[in-house]
Amino acid sequence: MILIVPDHNNCSLDTSILNLLEAALKLGLEEEIHILIIGYNLDSVIKEASTISNHIAKIMVVDAFYFGDFLVENHALQISKLVSNYSYVIFSNSSFSKSIAPRLAGILDIAPISEVSEIISKDVFVRFIYTGNFIETVLCNENIKILTIKTSFFAAKSCDSINYDVLVENIPPIDNLGLSILIDEKINLTGRPDLSKANIVVAGGRALGSKENFDILIGGLADKLGAAVGASRAAVDAGYASNDLQIGQTGKSIAPKLYIAIGISGAAQHIAGVCNAGMVISINNDRDAPIFQFSDYGMVGNLFDIVPQLIKLL
Ligand SMILES: Cc1cc2nc3c(=O)[nH]c(=O)nc-3n(C[C@H](O)[C@H](O)[C@H](O)COP(=O)(O)OP(=O)(O)OC[C@H]3O[C@@H](n4cnc5c(N)ncnc54)[C@H](O)[C@@H]3O)c2cc1C
Repeated sequence: MILIVPDHNNCSLDTSILNLLEAALKLGLEEEIHILIIGYNLDSVIKEASTISNHIAKIMVVDAFYFGDFLVENHALQISKLVSNYSYVIFSNSSFSKSIAPRLAGILDIAPISEVSEIISKDVFVRFIYTGNFIETVLCNENIKILTIKTSFFAAKSCDSINYDVLVENIPPIDNLGLSILIDEKINLTGRPDLSKANIVVAGGRALGSKENFDILIGGLADKLGAAVGASRAAVDAGYASNDLQIGQTGKSIAPKLYIAIGISGAAQHIAGVCNAGMVISINNDRDAPIFQFSDYGMVGNLFDIVPQLIKLL
């Protein structure tokens, strides 16, 4: 049996559930697939989960107020109590899920397999290692295989949106461990598309030189294209962009149809987050910048000349 632990926000499921389902189906159609939803006030999430696919046999629900804040210690322990009958536990590669999976593996004394990009067979997986510089094929002999999935590598079919008669099982929650407490939460409302899911992403690097330039040029071009904004780590470290916009090994993995990299050198750690993008266009004043090796189209020139013209033209 396969257990999918999807991301959600207590109101709706993250669309990556569809990619996780695709990955689960690759493990074998004869495997029964269950979903585990842990959170607070989950009625709308359960309703949505029951409209996803007839491949989902059961939805397990753990509903308690202390799960509403998504504190990973409680989640990992709760999941560990429920997985003994499963052959696979599947997570996305979101920051939250990547924080639970190793904790769960630690509790169960199992070696997890992270960053899975391909499922070769029931126990052989392809995964990214060393910041995406190497791709490794591994055989996993664990009885329970804990996987985090590079969701952009598992193209999702759309949701059926039919109400299936899925079995819903309510599970009694563990006691609150109280190891961490959520003190404050700030939500960034830009009105732009979500970076992880956008069809077009415009990203800026260190070369922007200031937050003001970044906002005017990268934000301005993104708004003309209806795109999400992204950034290199150097731009984030310099304070030009918030760290939820970082793309790369230690940031987000994205798979837009169009990726525009402006003043970004193309370090391996950055490329690790965009290697599944469709078309790549880059602007850089150094014709030898590594980003050009990764680009479909490149413009060699000063971004401070090119980008304002692009914004004007668009
Ligand atoms: C463990 C680890 C994890 C990391 N994780 C990440 C990650 O997740 N994401 C990430 O991005 N990086 C990551 N990095 C950092 C990465 O190695 C690079 O340092 C970083 O990506 C560089 O950012 P950048 O391209 O903006 O800056 P730079 O490397 O400084 O490149 C700036 C580019 O702008 C060009 N330029 C300069 N002026 C202009 C101009 N006027 N017009 C046009 N072009 C111009 C330059 O030619 C240059 O190519 C990580 C590093 C480590 C060690």
